[in-house]
Amino acid sequence: MKITDIACHVLLDPAYDIGATSSAQDDIVVEIHTDEGLTGIGESDVNPWIARACIQAPGTHSMGLGLTEMLIGADPLAVEELWESMYVGTAMNGRRGALIHAMGAIDMALHDLRGKALGKPCYELLGGAQRESITPYASLQPDVSSFEEYRRSLVAWARKAKQLGFRAAKAEITPCGPYAHKGLKATHRQMTETIGDVRDAVGPGFTLMVDVQYAFPDADTCLAAIRDWVDFDLFFIETPLPADDLAGYARVAVEQPIPIAAGEWLATRFEFFDLIERGKVRFVQPDIGRVGGLTEARRVSEFAARSGVQMVPHLWKTGISIAAAVHLAATAPHCPLIEFLPADLCESALRKELVLDEIRMEKGQIALPVRPGLGVELNRPALEQFKAAAENATRSLALI
Ligand SMILES: [Mg+2]
Repeated sequence: MKITDIACHVLLDPAYDIGATSSAQDDIVVEIHTDEGLTGIGESDVNPWIARACIQAPGTHSMGLGLTEMLIGADPLAVEELWESMYVGTAMNGRRGALIHAMGAIDMALHDLRGKALGKPCYELLGGAQRESITPYASLQPDVSSFEEYRRSLVAWARKAKQLGFRAAKAEITPCGPYAHKGLKATHRQMTETIGDVRDAVGPGFTLMVDVQYAFPDADTCLAAIRDWVDFDLFFIETPLPADDLAGYARVAVEQPIPIAAGEWLATRFEFFDLIERGKVRFVQPDIGRVGGLTEARRVSEFAARSGVQMVPHLWKTGISIAAAVHLAATAPHCPLIEFLPADLCESALRKELVLDEIRMEKGQIALPVRPGLGVELNRPALEQFKAAAENATRSLALI
């Protein structure tokens, strides 16, 4: 079998809002086509216009090549070998960041393709299942524009998540710092009160996390702000500090008792080596597309296991990433949860409509998938609608 074409789809939710700080409103989806008629699909969480350029740009140096030119004519079943040749062949294009995130969508599609070709779910080709089901947690970020309204909505959404059967949820509470949703503003004390409201709403037996999305500028500010959160029985606090402040992460991880989680933006296992060894986090959160695909996410998973660190994959995209996370989690005994944007508690049309036959939760658990590959297919009419929205936005924003 040979790769004949790589289609890149830049997609946009027609109702996108730049102030919403939600990466579920755009997407890069790749389809890898072969001479035998099989097709694999993958996606990644990165500016899709940039990712498309990373995939389609040609190159004039043997270590600064374009991803597409390297893959046309290659055997798609040699997934791990292709990862190495893509990484080495694009080394001068950056080695990290958008290039690796884009490569992650390709690697995800290659795993999908290999599973389909061999008639097996991806996890069976990634070392086999180590568990019988996966536990998703609901990520909650209401789309409102005042903090009091946000607080009320968050409490209502947490109750709804529990009613939907979730056993775990994460409250996004970011009223300060560069990631502040819709420019919301609130004090650290109001953050504490909001977490207390959510804990009261879900009750004591429910697994609860908080994501503050880089809200605190330094370790001292963070330690002072989260001192009062110990009684809320939080499973972890996510990304409390700027991503590059690993010395700060180590202080926050060591100087207070609540476990710290991070890693959603990282590219390649090498960045996770630093996060674990220098940042001392207790949970790593590889985003499967961004880290470099299922091939690289498996390596992060193995390193985390050897380091005694738990893994909870990040995802804020569509049913494609949910499927990839389910296959990764199936192979990892140290993966207690995967992130999950409930379609009923999310504003993104992309999240709700892009995928057919989405992997679903029942009674708080996701059963191991049985279909070959990732096990999901694109909803073609929805894909065309989101492509058209992206083309319109490109024209109206004069982006390209
Ligand atoms: Mg996050």
